Amino acid sequence: MTELTLAQRLGGVQDRIRSAATKAHRDLAEIQLVIVTKNHSADLPIELLELGESNFGENRDQEASAKALIVSENKPGLATWHFVGQLQSNKVRSMLEYSSVLHSLDRASLLKELNKQLAKDSAARLQAFIELNLTEDPNRGGLDPNDLKSFAELVLSNPQIQLLGVMGVVGLGVEPDVDFERIAIASQALREIAPEAKFISAGMSGDFEEAIGFGATHLRIGTAITGNR
Ligand SMILES: *Cc1c(COP(=O)(O)O)cnc(C)c1O
Repeated sequence: MTELTLAQRLGGVQDRIRSAATKAHRDLAEIQLVIVTKNHSADLPIELLELGESNFGENRDQEASAKALIVSENKPGLATWHFVGQLQSNKVRSMLEYSSVLHSLDRASLLKELNKQLAKDSAARLQAFIELNLTEDPNRGGLDPNDLKSFAELVLSNPQIQLLGVMGVVGLGVEPDVDFERIAIASQALREIAPEAKFISAGMSGDFEEAIGFGATHLRIGTAITGNR
């Protein structure tokens, strides 16, 4: 059995996204693919840039900052980096140097540090999703969905942060549709106070087609494209 190339795996996922969008009566143009390149060297995003992809996700600051630097030296100004993992407050300053979208804004202490670091440069901007904790486990990253509106008010009070919407990772052993529906309901609630925060970051390699059915606008897909590592 011959292994598929990166271009073939990417093409396969793009075909599946297209079919799922058609099935859900959704416009393909409103679905953004973020390719999660964690655990892979900078060669991977560089190759993906050559294939026309430019949105990459990472979940660890140290790895991401080194990788983003190499990519920017090879392909200046082309990549957009999305930070998708749990972020410690002491990594905020570093993350802001290469990342323009944070998918995992999940607590007041992190917001406080973002406010502090962004205030140092009035031209600095960050787009952010509020991450929801869909499990019963408070140790998992994410905000309790019941606190969404009050937390969103705090985020909205910083004009340097553009609130894009909500993000969720479906729980292990849970029927993904149940969690995707909860994310969609939370998104609706958020839009009552912030109509422009209409985006939904949801869907990974194992469940992105279902996520599209529930309105996901930002798919965070790793291994289905990048292969295992
Ligand atoms: C790793 C990761 C992904 C991608 O996961 P795959 O199953 O490889 O597609 C998406 N979101 C987050 C937050 C991740 O950490």
